[in-house]
Amino acid sequence: APPETSPPSLPDALPINAILVVNAGSSSLKFQVFATDASGQLDCLVKGQMDGIGTRPRLRATGPDKKPLIDQSYSVEKVPDLPAATQETGDWLRQTQKVNLVAVGHRVVHGGPEYSRPVRLTADVVAQLERYVSLAPLHQPNNLAPIRTLLSRRPELPQVACFDTAFHRDHPKVADYYALPERFYKEGVRRYGFHGLSYEYIAQRLPDVAPNISKGRVIVAHLGSGASMCALANGRSIESTLGFTALDGLAMGTRPGQLDPGVVLYLIAEKGMTPAAVQDLFYKESGLKGLSGISNDVRELQESADPKAAFALDYFVYRVSLFAGMLAAALGGLDGFVFTAGIGENSATMRARIAEKLGWLGVTLDVDANTARKPLISRNDSRVAVYVIPTNEELMIAQHTLALISGRAERAAE
Ligand code: ADP
Repeated sequence: APPETSPPSLPDALPINAILVVNAGSSSLKFQVFATDASGQLDCLVKGQMDGIGTRPRLRATGPDKKPLIDQSYSVEKVPDLPAATQETGDWLRQTQKVNLVAVGHRVVHGGPEYSRPVRLTADVVAQLERYVSLAPLHQPNNLAPIRTLLSRRPELPQVACFDTAFHRDHPKVADYYALPERFYKEGVRRYGFHGLSYEYIAQRLPDVAPNISKGRVIVAHLGSGASMCALANGRSIESTLGFTALDGLAMGTRPGQLDPGVVLYLIAEKGMTPAAVQDLFYKESGLKGLSGISNDVRELQESADPKAAFALDYFVYRVSLFAGMLAAALGGLDGFVFTAGIGENSATMRARIAEKLGWLGVTLDVDANTARKPLISRNDSRVAVYVIPTNEELMIAQHTLALISGRAERAAE
């Protein structure tokens, strides 16, 4: 009889390669882990966030099937600030996710006038991005903090910055300027536009989801707690409702949107408000929250019987329709309109109300398709095709990061 042989033992499976995507704000740290392979496939393994940083820190994350992986609260002493949140989140990821981290992609709000595409991070690049803190004082420092932490702790780990402004950097000159003396433009007072990663993702999806309009004139409405709209001509941004900061354009959850600069002068000169107080008013107390006096959340306003809640929603719909007219003028006509982000993806009522206002531009909604949240929600005879396309800024960042570290981006740019 042949000697008994045991089957050859398989080596332990190698840990999968993964990319970490980080989106760091003042009170929250959002992250996703994407598995990747040589083919460029990206699959989300973990999605989570630490929020309430400095007040009621809480770490939550889910796996691929939305299965909860962690829901843990921390004392403020343990997680007083963003660096501590980065540390705690990193520790949890290392202990529970046995992956081989090949790169980290960061969302960075401002790429200034220079960066029109993602960039591999070095100490020199971080120093350059530091100069844009004055252009985005609320966001840029938080975006840069985890980058610096990781650069010093894991210098060998490639890191990539992806900018909210980059997708808009090819705007025509007339769209990029304010009518101020030239020296202000030179020092960076420009109409940058934001939500660029969301718009870039949508532009990338259009050939698959909406091939009939992907080469045409399209308005994308990113309607979340921050909200803006972008004009796409043949998949490229030519105009945005946001400008120098994320305060312009549409009214948002807590921001007023377009405002006569005279109001700012009035607040300072007549009311004696400090810059900090004005900043608080514009970033935290205005918009839907300021108008309704109830909430910044569209769901709560829809459920409320208070006439002020209804007025805030009327205002939002009106402003979206007003700026749609502006962007249609920039495009010289309109072939498609895309809804995305929290409100755009989830509120059939708000979509229907906005679509009704866009009738003069050629929009006819398919009521059933809208209720069922089909991707195409306009009728066959609608001159403008209307779509709902969920955005995915994190996947966009993972794609850019993978392309940069594998050299694909440089080759594409050559
Ligand atoms: P952000 O990423 O900027 O925080 P989101 O894109 O997640 O924002 O959008 C959040 C907003 O989406 C919420 O403030 C809420 O008003 C709105 N929203 C989410 N779900 C719904 C829904 N089912 N109906 C109406 N509005 C919704």
